[in-house]
Amino acid sequence: MTVIRFKALEKSLERKPVYSKPPSNKTSDYFGMNVFDKPTMQRYLAKEAYEHVMDAIEKGGRIERRMADQIAAGMETWATERGVTHYTHWFHPLTEGTAEKHDAFIVPGDYGGVFENFSGKALSQQEPDASSFPSGGLRNTFEARGYTAWDPSSPAFIIGNTLSIPTIFVSYTGEALDHKTPLLKALNAVDKAATDVCQFFDKNITKVQANLGWEQEYFLIDEALYSARPDLSLTDRTLMGHSSAKDQQLDDHYFGSIPERVTAFMQALEIEAYKLGIPLKTRHNEVAPNQYEVAPMFEECNLAVDHNMLVMDIMKRIARQHNFQVIFHEKPFKGINGTGKHNNWSLSTNTGVVLHSPGKNPKSNLQFLTFTVNTIKAVHDHADLLRASIASASNAHRLGANEAPPAIISVFLGSEVSKMLDQLEEQVTNRKMTPDEKTALKLDIGRIPELLLDNTDRNRTSPFAFTGNRFEFRAVGGSANCSSPMLVLNAAMAAQLIEFKKDVDKLVDKGVKKDEAIFQVLRDYIKASKAIRFEGNNYSEDWEKEAAKRGLTNVKDVPDSLEAYLSDKSKKLFKDLGIFSEKELEGRTEVRFENYTMKIQIESRVLGDLAINHIVPVAIEYQNILMENVSKQKSIFSEADLNDMVGNRIDTIKEISTHISSIKEKVGKMIEARKKANAIEDPVEKAKAYNKKVYPFLDDIRYHIDKLELVVDDNLWPLPKYRELLFTR
Ligand code: ADP
Ligand code: MG
Repeated sequence: MTVIRFKALEKSLERKPVYSKPPSNKTSDYFGMNVFDKPTMQRYLAKEAYEHVMDAIEKGGRIERRMADQIAAGMETWATERGVTHYTHWFHPLTEGTAEKHDAFIVPGDYGGVFENFSGKALSQQEPDASSFPSGGLRNTFEARGYTAWDPSSPAFIIGNTLSIPTIFVSYTGEALDHKTPLLKALNAVDKAATDVCQFFDKNITKVQANLGWEQEYFLIDEALYSARPDLSLTDRTLMGHSSAKDQQLDDHYFGSIPERVTAFMQALEIEAYKLGIPLKTRHNEVAPNQYEVAPMFEECNLAVDHNMLVMDIMKRIARQHNFQVIFHEKPFKGINGTGKHNNWSLSTNTGVVLHSPGKNPKSNLQFLTFTVNTIKAVHDHADLLRASIASASNAHRLGANEAPPAIISVFLGSEVSKMLDQLEEQVTNRKMTPDEKTALKLDIGRIPELLLDNTDRNRTSPFAFTGNRFEFRAVGGSANCSSPMLVLNAAMAAQLIEFKKDVDKLVDKGVKKDEAIFQVLRDYIKASKAIRFEGNNYSEDWEKEAAKRGLTNVKDVPDSLEAYLSDKSKKLFKDLGIFSEKELEGRTEVRFENYTMKIQIESRVLGDLAINHIVPVAIEYQNILMENVSKQKSIFSEADLNDMVGNRIDTIKEISTHISSIKEKVGKMIEARKKANAIEDPVEKAKAYNKKVYPFLDDIRYHIDKLELVVDDNLWPLPKYRELLFTR
């Protein structure tokens, strides 16, 4: 019998790159061809219907039923012209992926035939029988069944022969059952709060949008090799595998030339993404072998989140067409870099100003400082919640685990902005400033942009870094839905800006001039949030000590981190902004705890299985070969010769025995620990038990398997090794 690993290797070596042809050589010719975007709507809708949709997008209003019929008819015409036969409401349930249920565009006709029909009702609302999605106990009753409703702010698109309509997913009693509903509420809240603050600076600002530019890292693994690894196929990470003699130590993969098979995959991905109006801009090799990155230009946050989910989806599909599997897991391979998804975030106005970008004069710079200081304060006040927003079983391998980022949330500003804030803190006083002081301050503030220009200092170790015109939240995991961190960040910012406006207004009411009031409040915030600012190396041990002194939290365990969602502070934040009721928050947090438990449970089962059914038998087989060899030698050679000759083979036989015994013993103990944890009812306590009692066995058992991999005959080893998985030719 050939070892499955060799068949897989053979297959992978035979692969050739598969190139795709774009609809046109010029991207702009076909960019967005599969999106029902504004220009398309203009062509397919009557003026009244078009304006109605635009209004709903701008103001977040509802679509009237009569209009919905018209819009649906236009959409159907457009879609059927492109060979579409089905439609689906596309939504983001509280699982990691997206969900869809396809229905044909047909209704029964009078004489047994069918009408092609897509009604306004079918466009606006659907009731998927989706009762199996996690809801944290929110949907136990019949009344609370869920329905999906169109989100006109994200345009409909075509994939294959299906028209996909982005929707929210809520219960009849109004509770959110998805990621999108609360995100839209947070985006609304930050729009309103930021617009109010902008009124201090420019009366023409009537709308502020949050932007998101994500950078998606991923691994590509040959599909045959991936399939020969049950751990990868079932858990998206390798639960065993000795490191390859060569992996990333030479840094020869980072920005290196891209293997042809991978280039062909990337091209196909870009073509599909462009058809869907997703502005992919960058592609390159990452640090680890077989690791890559793709990033679009930034977009409005809700759309960017949809596009990220969509791109992840397309990547999986296209990867298979190219005989690859794409992996978004945060740590698929031990010992080499993991996978993150930097979230580049900023606020910008309807007047075209990026509020996190320094301006051209003292006034616009004061506006920049206002938004920057408020961002720092928001992160300072809600650091625990931000950490919770990115905490998951898979991201735990990055967060606080010897790799970017640490489990301490801090903000990096760069020396120039830091200096500026230090000056503000010192110069601003509570008394009325003299004209000279004011001029000096304004001059200082006016100097920011030129200083930033030649000051592109970057700190790659910071979880939340200012990078010139935006903040980059780097702690987000590769497999995450960006909704969670974006929801928290925008909500925290909204609450912070509301507080800022109140504080300034209070001083103004007391007769302080507006400019001075802004300075004074900013100074107070700079002082209050100072602890969160850190310019040094976030990976160093010194920082852990220093952070502890500053009173910053350092929470490494996922269940502990998730508890931040349930603190009074978080409950108040979400309630005040109308994003979550307490019940909703508790429900969805429960889902996060359960998800953690299930992830560890699955990993533990898979590892137990593999260890006992794949590894131990092979180790015994090899041990038998060695024993036979020793005993045959004994029948040939004299006692005196033998000692030297077989001594080290006997050591190996013993070593194999020790590892086999340890594996068996530890797998047994792990199963016991699982049983105990499974008996716990409370989801929080259960997750904690899995974290503390079950999880440690994974590395423990792996240690022995990885040792065996080094001793056992390569011809017998059943699973593709790291060196085979990681070097695509
Ligand atoms: P890096 O140097 O970190 O790789 P890039 O220049 O490739 O950064 O940009 C990363 C992402 O940040 C891209 O999606 C880009 O569009 C986005 N980005 C740039 N400016 C902003 C901004 N003001 N707000 C939000 N995202 C931005
Ligand atoms: Mg970046």
